[in-house]
Amino acid sequence: MSSFLLLEAETPEQGDRLPVTGARRRGLPTEDHTIQTKGKGVDLYEYQARDLFEAHGVPVLRGIVATTPEEAENAAKELGGGVVVVKAQVKIGGRGKAGGVKLAKSPEEAKEKAEEILGMDIKGHTVHRVMIAEGASIEEEYYFSILLDRANRRHLAMCSREGGMDIETLAKERPEALAKVGIDASVGLDEAKAREILKEASFDESEFDALVPVLMQLWDVYSGEDATLVEVNPLVKVSDGSIIALDGKVSLDDNATFRHPEHEELKDTSAQDEREARAKAEGLNYVRLEGEVGIIGNGAGLVMSTLDVVAYAGEQYGTRPANFLDIGGGASAEVMAKGLDVILGDEQVRSCLVNVFGGITACDEVAKGILGALELLGDSATKPIVVRLDGNKVEEGRQILEEANHPLVTMIDTMDGAAAKAAELAKA
Ligand code: GDP
Ligand code: MN
Repeated sequence: MSSFLLLEAETPEQGDRLPVTGARRRGLPTEDHTIQTKGKGVDLYEYQARDLFEAHGVPVLRGIVATTPEEAENAAKELGGGVVVVKAQVKIGGRGKAGGVKLAKSPEEAKEKAEEILGMDIKGHTVHRVMIAEGASIEEEYYFSILLDRANRRHLAMCSREGGMDIETLAKERPEALAKVGIDASVGLDEAKAREILKEASFDESEFDALVPVLMQLWDVYSGEDATLVEVNPLVKVSDGSIIALDGKVSLDDNATFRHPEHEELKDTSAQDEREARAKAEGLNYVRLEGEVGIIGNGAGLVMSTLDVVAYAGEQYGTRPANFLDIGGGASAEVMAKGLDVILGDEQVRSCLVNVFGGITACDEVAKGILGALELLGDSATKPIVVRLDGNKVEEGRQILEEANHPLVTMIDTMDGAAAKAAELAKA
């Protein structure tokens, strides 16, 4: 499964690509400077996507989830004892390449492969479950996705004859091989649109009949489930000519949860989701991203600019912002402490940048909040914190930090300087 694509949003929401505005300002290609967040609302596991596909009539192969090698063996038997594919269930793309997708010719082999894959770490995601899926004799691998195109107020279908591989690589290296066709929300993906998409992707007319209904069924998943993404990579043609969705990635729109009480059980309770849930419960405006530099600021605009400057500064170190966290305009020392706690407890974070422009919240309060948080965290705080203070009571704030002389805290007066330091520390 590959990741979300080429979206930009005005305000950060989970799952949106945050536009790194400085890239645009500096005339750099913005596509390379977007930050992928961890997924909006509910990102589903492949097996959950498979179930939804099946419910909407999309052709899929049978699949059974297993959490132990023995369960995997039994699942393979249940599927007829023939060839199966053992697939790691993690919410990250590129499982195949990472060794998380393995063919097994017998139930015994399925057990062995499951033993290898369960517990494996795929890009920081531990595999707790595998799906045992029926094997398919693949003839061709295609790519198809539908996603929400916020910038253009429509939906977007993407389609390619060259599936299987990482679609972002394809989009970059051979953009002509990836068709992009807008879908008017009031019309949807009807037969005419399906044909238009396939034509655009250079499919032959003779292939349309098998593919058109599948595209329409996938639209049914997308619109019927209020998804913001439905991606199938690969969509395959098997030896008898039929089309099957072999892998699925679905993100459901959190804003539509009220229409889908049944989606509640699809939600995951992994550590990362817990982190976001906890931040939300504390009233923090927090969105997790994929980088290493934790960011805290006051005011959404300031935090967005901070992400931008850190992303730019981090280019030379290969480090990126780890989150968006706005503690708000009138945040107290306590809120600062909660924010720091959330960020420093995140195992992907290696350094933290606190960027505050004192207004209603004066800098001395912020300084006390930082020290208070460090005291609370005690020995569990080990990550360097770069602090840039300016505005209301800046002198008092700086003095408090200077006097405390905490070994983890570095004060830097300018935003660029502080961002550069934080980005560099994240590398070490
Ligand atoms: P991803 O790497 O996370 O995208 O995992 P996929 O589910 O897309 O699987 C990766 C690749 O494994 C596919 O592109 C296929 O080439 C191959 N694969 C997956 N399932 C089967 C199967 O049932 N039979 C065969 N022969 N190959 C498969
Ligand atoms: Mn895939």
